[in-house]
Amino acid sequence: MSRSLTCLGRRPCRPHRLSRAPLPCEPGNNANCGEPVCCREGNGVPANKSEGAGPFGDYRYCDTPLWTLESMLQKLSAEKDQFDYIYWTGDLPAHDVWNQTRGTQLESLYHMVGLMRKYFPDKPVFPCLGNHESAPVNSFPPPYISGKYNISWLYDALADSWKHWLPKDALAMVKSGAYYSVSPHPGFRIISLNMNYCNSENWWMLLNTTDPTGELAWLIGLLQHSENTGEKVHILGHIPPGDSGCLKAWSWNYYKVINRYQNIIAGQFFGHTHYDSFQVFYDEETLSVPVNVAYVAPSVTAYSGLNMGYRFYTMDGIYRNSSYQVLDHETYILNLAKANAEGKIAWEFEYSAKAQYNMASLSPRDWDKLITRMSTNQTLLETYNRLYYKSVNSGECDKACRFSKLCDTRSARSHDTDLCKDL
Ligand SMILES: [Zn+2]
Repeated sequence: MSRSLTCLGRRPCRPHRLSRAPLPCEPGNNANCGEPVCCREGNGVPANKSEGAGPFGDYRYCDTPLWTLESMLQKLSAEKDQFDYIYWTGDLPAHDVWNQTRGTQLESLYHMVGLMRKYFPDKPVFPCLGNHESAPVNSFPPPYISGKYNISWLYDALADSWKHWLPKDALAMVKSGAYYSVSPHPGFRIISLNMNYCNSENWWMLLNTTDPTGELAWLIGLLQHSENTGEKVHILGHIPPGDSGCLKAWSWNYYKVINRYQNIIAGQFFGHTHYDSFQVFYDEETLSVPVNVAYVAPSVTAYSGLNMGYRFYTMDGIYRNSSYQVLDHETYILNLAKANAEGKIAWEFEYSAKAQYNMASLSPRDWDKLITRMSTNQTLLETYNRLYYKSVNSGECDKACRFSKLCDTRSARSHDTDLCKDL
């Protein structure tokens, strides 16, 4: 059995100063400044104290202070014997996208990688590229675009900063497309995708929305190799494939790939949304047989209206013939209101999937059963809705909320509501 930790992107208060020691993001900075991100230097201190940011972050339009992030890393570092490796699903810079340059983005990248290495010097880390790492945000030209828009400024830096974690052949892949695969144990392969080639806000995809860098073709070849050699596979990525922000052509082709290789794909792990959710894949023929699951783990940012969170996955793994299936997952959160009120940080256990949802296993069939159960059990649906927002009180889940939450879990391919008709 092995455990992995999924730690999603966080948002520092001052990315332009990240190459230095982190500076305090003074509590009290304006948290309601009228800009997309507040609580930052330059937002000032509001006349009304209640408009000021809390000491450990704020539910309003504020990114996570570095010391809150480091409190999580410190806690996990002290528990490092309890997990084997880390899945790190991207989005490192803050949301002040109008301030960002290539320089500030690289400072964020190197600073965050430095923190991970400081707290987990001996732990394998398998990173992914988020959509916020580029400048401008969401701008990921295919590598054949040359000249001033060429993306090598970022992909070369990724390969350089990830060199302690990945072998040379994987780093060469990172330099060319920011995706890679590694086999940490015989019989087990991890594939990290660059989901910006399905990102609908990446306008470079207007040139080719299907497979601009050959990433899907590469994925198919790799999965065929894994099938031939008896490997089980985990797929990591940033934007979930069923998210409306994933282009339809890419998403539907990816769905076909998951269908074809469902026998060897033991887990899929994504981030991006900041919410805690999942997406079930069904057989393409009848859309009635659940064949795979993508987990969407909660973020370390409170942006916006959320508590912060991270997750442990317990896998059937280590041995050559292990299934590498996810046996259970446990989510931990920081209750931000409580931390700010008490003046101290306490990361706490939120729930484990099997116990909370009374599931026999975390198989695709059991996740599908959970969706059906939630469709007729309002109490269960309310529980899912609360955990979706990391235990922030989100109010009652009414008819529209019910449809949206359940339809999302059934739609692992984007822009497809075929499976939502009975909801
Ligand atoms: Zn994202």
